[in-house]
Amino acid sequence: MKTSKYLVKPGDNIDLNKVDADEHHIYKGDKETALAEIKLLNLELDKLQKVQHAEKKHKILIVFQGMDASGKDGAIRNVFNSVNPSGVYVAHFGAPSRDELSRDFLWRIHNKVPAKGEMVIFNRSHYEDVLIVRVQKLMPKLVWQNRYKHINDFEQMLANEGTSIYKFYLHISNDEQRRRLQSRINNPDKHWKIDPNDFKDREKWGDYLEAYNDVIIKTSTNWAPWYIIPANKKWYRDLLISNILVTELSQLKMKYPSPKADYTGMVIK
Ligand code: AMP
Ligand code: MG
Repeated sequence: MKTSKYLVKPGDNIDLNKVDADEHHIYKGDKETALAEIKLLNLELDKLQKVQHAEKKHKILIVFQGMDASGKDGAIRNVFNSVNPSGVYVAHFGAPSRDELSRDFLWRIHNKVPAKGEMVIFNRSHYEDVLIVRVQKLMPKLVWQNRYKHINDFEQMLANEGTSIYKFYLHISNDEQRRRLQSRINNPDKHWKIDPNDFKDREKWGDYLEAYNDVIIKTSTNWAPWYIIPANKKWYRDLLISNILVTELSQLKMKYPSPKADYTGMVIK
């Protein structure tokens, strides 16, 4: 699968209003074949993570962003369902605590970045500090405006120090969000997921889309690129992300450490 069309290169002119969230055309198969393919990719990702964990050289950071109900939790569950939980961590960033708010916005983020041999998945991230903070006017423009540069510098520093960064924006349509939020309301088991702020955020759909558009244009860099994932179809979303990660992580050329001695043919008495 040629996934490069979803990669945002620096300087690309992005208009999220024109991105089709239903798109799935570069895949020739259907949902059934995709699910089978995702299973195989899950195993490939497991193999890569095993080597990464053993080698203790690379640090891998994977960022998930998207509107409410865009499928961040589902994608994380389905893409990483075969990896070894040792060495893989999910950090979820909700509204900052008082303690966090009294520091700079990157303080709590830096604290969770991967160590050598670790894969860390961000479910929301420092990007909220130029998304909800901007749209709900939680800070003055003068403050959040400077943050794109701070974010690029921070990510560049992480990359220079050996972190590989991949960022996924899950793109759903306004209609699809309505369906998903409604289905949460219709299913009492999902009521725990409902946050009254989701409805407040939904009213500002256009403002969020504009804020996302700016984020992607200003912070897709060679060292930490964004991928725009059409996410109305869950199977396509998972297939794309799995494909991209397996392709990208294979290019890191990770290897098992060399053995402490030559054990070939050794028989234990
Ligand atoms: P959820 O991911 O559904 O658990 O929701 C977490 C909520 O925390 C979302 O509404 C986010 O927008 C909000 N959130 C995350 N980071 C920040 C931040 N830096 N400032 C304000 N709200 C945030
Ligand atoms: Mg919300």
